[in-house]
Parts: sequence; C-alpha cells; structure tokens
Amino acid sequence: MTGKLPQVGTTIFTVMSRRARELDALNLGQGFPDYDIDPRLTELVAEAMRGGHNQYAPMEGVLALRERIAAKLLRVYGRAIDPESEITVTLGATEAIFSAIQAAVGAGDEVIAFDPAYDSYEPAVRLAGARCLRLPLVQPGFRYDWERVRAALNARTRLILFNSPHNPACTTAQSADLEALAELIDGRDVAVLSDEVYEHVVFDGGQHHSVLTHPALAPRSFAVFSFGKTLHATGLRVGYCVAPPELTRELRKVHQFNTFSIAHPLQHAIAAYLTEQPDCGEGLAAFFQAKRDRLRGALAGSGFGLPPAQGTYFQLLDFSAFARADDLEFAERLLTEARVATIPLSPFYAVAERLPFVRLCIAKRDGTLDEAAARLNAFAQRLKAA
Ligand code: GLN
Repeated sequence: MTGKLPQVGTTIFTVMSRRARELDALNLGQGFPDYDIDPRLTELVAEAMRGGHNQYAPMEGVLALRERIAAKLLRVYGRAIDPESEITVTLGATEAIFSAIQAAVGAGDEVIAFDPAYDSYEPAVRLAGARCLRLPLVQPGFRYDWERVRAALNARTRLILFNSPHNPACTTAQSADLEALAELIDGRDVAVLSDEVYEHVVFDGGQHHSVLTHPALAPRSFAVFSFGKTLHATGLRVGYCVAPPELTRELRKVHQFNTFSIAHPLQHAIAAYLTEQPDCGEGLAAFFQAKRDRLRGALAGSGFGLPPAQGTYFQLLDFSAFARADDLEFAERLLTEARVATIPLSPFYAVAERLPFVRLCIAKRDGTLDEAAARLNAFAQRLKAA
C-alpha cells in the first residue's frame, strides 16, 4: 500500500530519542523535562482515580477544568471566554492542531505555514486533502516577510498556521506581526491556527502576544495550548483549543471522532491543581530563563554561536565556526562523538535550508545542562585542535 503520507518517515524527535537511548547519550533533543513533576499533581491524579473518575469524560472536556482554563485566560489575556462553547480539551496540543486542521480545510484548499514549521502541521493538512504552502522565515533572526505572505494569499487560502513562541526558532512574534497578519486576512475567508504552547515561556521581560488579545484575530482563530508544557509533564497529553463558538462547533465534530474524550482522571486532577495554584504558569519564564542563561553561560567560550532565544524551552546552537551547514551530519557527530542528542532544523523545512543550527532542550536538571555543556565544550576543543 502506498498510504497517504508516502514522504513521511518517523519524526526526528522519536528518531533522536531512540538513538540517544541506544547510544546512552544525553538527550537534549526531544523537548521534555528530565526532572520530577510537582508531587501534588501526582497526588491529585491518584485522588481523582480513587474518587471514581474512571469512565468516559464529557466529549468537550470536564467542565470544572474548562472553567479553570477560562479563569486563567481572563486573568492572563483579559478575555472572557465561554467555557461551554469556546474551550475544548484535547489530547495534547497535537490533537488540537490536527482536529482544527481537519475541521477547517479540505480538498482544493490552501494552508500557509512558516518554515521552520513544527513537523505535525503539513501532514495534518495533507490528510485533510488540502495543500500546504511553506514560506521560510527570513534570516537572520527568523523574521516574517509579510509581503511574501500577501503575494501567496489567493482565493483558495483558508488557513494560516502561526506559532509563537516559536518552536524550533525560539523567537517570539511581536504585536506588529499580529497586526500584519490581521490586516492581510481582513475581508478574506481565512482562519488562523495559533500554536501557543509556550505561552508562558517568554524571556527578558518580553510579553506573549496571543491571538486571543487581538480584536480582529480572536474571532477567527483556533488558539492551541498545552498542560504538558505548563505542568512540566509532557506525558499527560492534555491540551486545549480556544475558538469562537462557530469554529469550536466544527472542531468538536472532528474531535468526537478522533480522540472522542480525554483521560478523565487527569482532567479532574488538573482542574484541582489549577484551583490550588491558579497562576502556576507565571513562574515558568523565570524558571526557564535561569536554565537558558546557565547553558549559554557554560557555552560562552566554546566557539559555538548562541542565537538569541526569546522564548520556548529551547536554545539554538550555531555550529558555523566548526563545520559547513549540514545540520543532519553535525547532529549525528554531536550524537556519536560528543554523546549529546540534539534536533537539527532541516526536517522542519519543505525545501531543506542549509542552516548551521541544531536545537537544544533546556528543560533539564541543572546537572544535565552542565554535563551537556561540558561535553559540547570538549567536543569544540577537539574540533579546534583538529
Ligand atoms: N514538542 C516536542 C518537541 O518539540 C516533540 C513532541 C513529539 O515528539 N511529537 O521537541
């Protein structure tokens, strides 16, 4: 059988994690913390199971959880969102992205994404029968070229995939970017899917500009969020999608046949956790900024370049001082020679750009970051000596 995604292999995240295990390398590739979660969350999960929340959850999500989410959205973004008609709990952000795309586009439609684009976007668009147009962010600094977007928009364009803080570029969109996006789609039948899973991880006093805060974008956007990121527990696989009632209705038509409903005890546990700690997201920027700065400090004399990281729990490493820009090859050398797993960026491009970057995950214990820096420094020394 040819299948529907003949060009797609196993994701670079899965491949790199598997290789790291095989080689017993430090895994700074796939983005997940290596430290313990808050034990209180563990207790609340056990309590929810003991409390009998072990059968199907409501399709749209446990109402108590959606109410806690709405309270947070009001506090953080100043928007009153209706938990009944505008919030859907999903199987991680990945399901929200997938279901929103299936709901929004079909055969003959076009979707615009920006490269480097998170790897699940285009396959979801293709499975919906639509075409994904990939526009590169511009170097240096992975900037939006809004004139290029204007030129790409046409009568078939139905959806634009937006992502800030950006994985894997580690940049954050500015309010001028949201303005430009809103202006471009004004008067067109185009929706926005905004991947905001790193909403709380914006560094150096910067602000996250959510589409929910933009008066023209909010009424036409699916905004996607993740408890895995906020609660340092990527294995929860609980996320949510915020969208106006018309879009939410369409999203749920797909969600109910895709994942149907999400782990019931986990939803109760997260609702209880948010009741106890409503502002748990608010310390994340300082927490990860300290890790970013620790790693950057430890690599300062290495010869590796460290592009600005404005947000996300990643840091790019620029290896142009040591090798030509073949990131797959360099990531392989880092894995086998430095014994550090990273994520190369070319798998996130439709037309593989020759960029000298690999991505490091900073959501790690300080000891892991120090050990990774020691291995990278030693590897850089060997390269300089060679
Ligand atoms: N979001 C994770 C990352 O960027 C990957 C999750 C996955 O493996 N699908 O590293």
